[in-house]
Amino acid sequence: MKRREIKKILIANRGEIAMRIIRACKELGKKSVAIFSEVDIDGVWIRKADECYPILGDPIQAYLDAEKIISLAKKSGCDAIHPGYGFLSESAEFAQMCEENGIIFIGPKPEHIALFGDKTASKKAMKEVGVPVIEGTEEPINSLEEGLKAAKEIGFPVIIKAAFGGGGRGMRIVLEEKDFKELFESAVNEAKKFFGKGDVFIEKYVNNPRHIEIQIIADKYGNVVHLRERDCSIQRRHQKVIEIAPSPRLSDEVRRELYRIATKAMFRLGYESVGTMEFLLDDKDNIYFIEMNTRVQVEHPVTEMISGIDIIQRMIEIAEGDKLIFLQEELNFRGYSIEFRINAEDPNNGFFPSFGKIKKFLAPGGPGVRMDIGVYTGYTINPCYDSMIGKLIVWALDWKGAVNKARRALDEFYIEGVKTNIPLHREIVRDKDFIARRFDTSYLNNKLETFN
Ligand code: ADP
Repeated sequence: MKRREIKKILIANRGEIAMRIIRACKELGKKSVAIFSEVDIDGVWIRKADECYPILGDPIQAYLDAEKIISLAKKSGCDAIHPGYGFLSESAEFAQMCEENGIIFIGPKPEHIALFGDKTASKKAMKEVGVPVIEGTEEPINSLEEGLKAAKEIGFPVIIKAAFGGGGRGMRIVLEEKDFKELFESAVNEAKKFFGKGDVFIEKYVNNPRHIEIQIIADKYGNVVHLRERDCSIQRRHQKVIEIAPSPRLSDEVRRELYRIATKAMFRLGYESVGTMEFLLDDKDNIYFIEMNTRVQVEHPVTEMISGIDIIQRMIEIAEGDKLIFLQEELNFRGYSIEFRINAEDPNNGFFPSFGKIKKFLAPGGPGVRMDIGVYTGYTINPCYDSMIGKLIVWALDWKGAVNKARRALDEFYIEGVKTNIPLHREIVRDKDFIARRFDTSYLNNKLETFN
């Protein structure tokens, strides 16, 4: 395969992930081009990129306008686009359009993005390559009768999910048959509202599982490597709040089995670039595949911290046609890393988003502390976008050290002007169950009742 060097990259994103990609570009000696919407004029990433261009009009549409973004990339002489996460990152059409316009899309092949964007099709495909997949309907469903029949076959409790969804939206747990109708209808309505398609599917509900995901990285030559797992069980409303690498409570036997399943599946598929296979584990360590994410994830830094691998840089090199620079056996993993998502929301007021001007922003630092953040003193948080303003990541050689470091770093963190979830994180890192590694996906909901 011919190698094609990338000299200039357009970053089709904003906030902390745009900053993260610019940093990778700079270290690799690539030029970076930022884009920004009308309301993002004060974005820090705009100042750090080599060039920047506004996209006028609707502020959300600005980062979703495939045609405008591709034409800007061409006009500014970019040979590649990095989509980050969210926005266009999982649009197979966008990846295809880039290819047709002679621009390298830094990510997986369009056919794999399309496959995994359809959750029922992807479960079917994974089953075929030997992955233990959670039991559920094989096709999207849109009638109540069909749904109820499937739910009865699977057996209650079940979970209803949006077939083309994400972010925990359009998801409903149904414990008993009598509640099915109402919850089915509300799931369909939510799926329609957020994803434009009301299709849902039904799955067996695993009681209080752990969420364990495997980071995969693969080149164009069939070299597939895993970068171990992340434990993302600490969630609120099915959305991740804290992520940990490696999982502090997983037996080596199960861990090895997950690595084997994930690398084999991605090899058989001919997958390339980075991706994450998400699994649920029940209390008996049964493994259930739920979905695959075909993009760099919010929580990728914890994997970088324990592996020393720069995931974004390697993504860029893979897109250029380079072979992976390491074999599985050559990787050394060390210590524990914990990521805390910093959300502008008020944990004392129903997690209501908190917007406005940041009057003072004093970030933690020191050994073992990494800040991936998109805001600064004087920056105004805009309600148009996600309330996550960045991440605090810590690393230490052992679990106890990582928790101690997290406590110290969270205590150093000072933000004035907007409410954030930092006080909640401070409580978690002092909680005896968290310290003792006793947590699954029900942890935070239960704790929220007892925290101040
Ligand atoms: P999304 O793509 O919307 O984030 P996922 O399918 O990744 O949805 O699931 C998000 C979270 O919802 C999981 O981490 C888990 O906590 C919960 N969940 C999803 N499916 C199930 C299930 N079948 N049983 C129990 N919990 C589930």
